[in-house]
Amino acid sequence: MENARTRLGNYNMDLSIGRPARIVKPSAEEMVDIPSINEIEDSLYSSKTISELKEGDNNVKMVGRVINIYDPNEFQRGDGTKGIVRTVEIADGTGVIRASFWDEKTETPLNIGDAIKIENPRVNSREDKIEISVGRNTNITNAKTEEAEKLPSHDDIKEMIYKTKKIDDIEEEDKNIKVTGQIVEAYGNRVLYEMCPNCNKRVNLVDNTYICDICGEEIEEPNYLMIIPCVIEDETGTMRVTFFRTAAEELIGMKMPEIIEVIQKTGDEGSLEDKVSDLVGHEITVIADASFDEYNEEIRLNAKKLVDIKM
Ligand SMILES: [Zn+2]
Repeated sequence: MENARTRLGNYNMDLSIGRPARIVKPSAEEMVDIPSINEIEDSLYSSKTISELKEGDNNVKMVGRVINIYDPNEFQRGDGTKGIVRTVEIADGTGVIRASFWDEKTETPLNIGDAIKIENPRVNSREDKIEISVGRNTNITNAKTEEAEKLPSHDDIKEMIYKTKKIDDIEEEDKNIKVTGQIVEAYGNRVLYEMCPNCNKRVNLVDNTYICDICGEEIEEPNYLMIIPCVIEDETGTMRVTFFRTAAEELIGMKMPEIIEVIQKTGDEGSLEDKVSDLVGHEITVIADASFDEYNEEIRLNAKKLVDIKM
């Protein structure tokens, strides 16, 4: 680069390549001194495993497998602009980490099981857990073959991170546990809830118009949240399991747009009740997080993923 301007950026010195600057191909002699891309990567970022990441880490890179991809969520920033965030869970041989992908990074094509390399994420902590943020300054690429080979296979990762538990052994802090049971109750009298696209709180229908009490605004097109509560039973006990969003879609084998259409067409929020009731008697295996329900004073499960359903 010739005639670029230097300028102090947020974290580093930036080079500004404007109209007066010129980009020319280096000569063979000049190229000799340029390190290879692998050398550059090694010098810029230090490799860490998931368990080694610490809050505030800078210039790190990690390689892991995508084990869960959630739907993107839109939100409104303080300055009124729209933002979008998508949660992706990534695992390696040492643990699991939640990654928040922001804005254009939410469009990164990802598949469950993919081995990916993340360079320069922000490492922060939320509720005492380390998380990473994938934003504009983060590079995401497919892991190279030699990097992917060092990771456990997707099946091995699943075995490692999803501890199988019987209902009676479940504790309120349990995360990512694998539970198998027979559905003994399934409630389909209402499965769709209208949410405010700005603040993600429930909206109320007043005179055929959706109103968000939090934002104090009329909502033209609400977002929908699908919830299917069930009770499952194994030989040790029973427990309430709630299926949200994708997990709920997997459970009844229908996608959201289809469900919205059915409910809008019939005008009956309980029009899937029979379909949901048909789930009773089936044995399911789910990956779930436990939590303590203060109101009912009991431990419940939030299903994150339906692993298996036996008809
Ligand atoms: Zn709102």
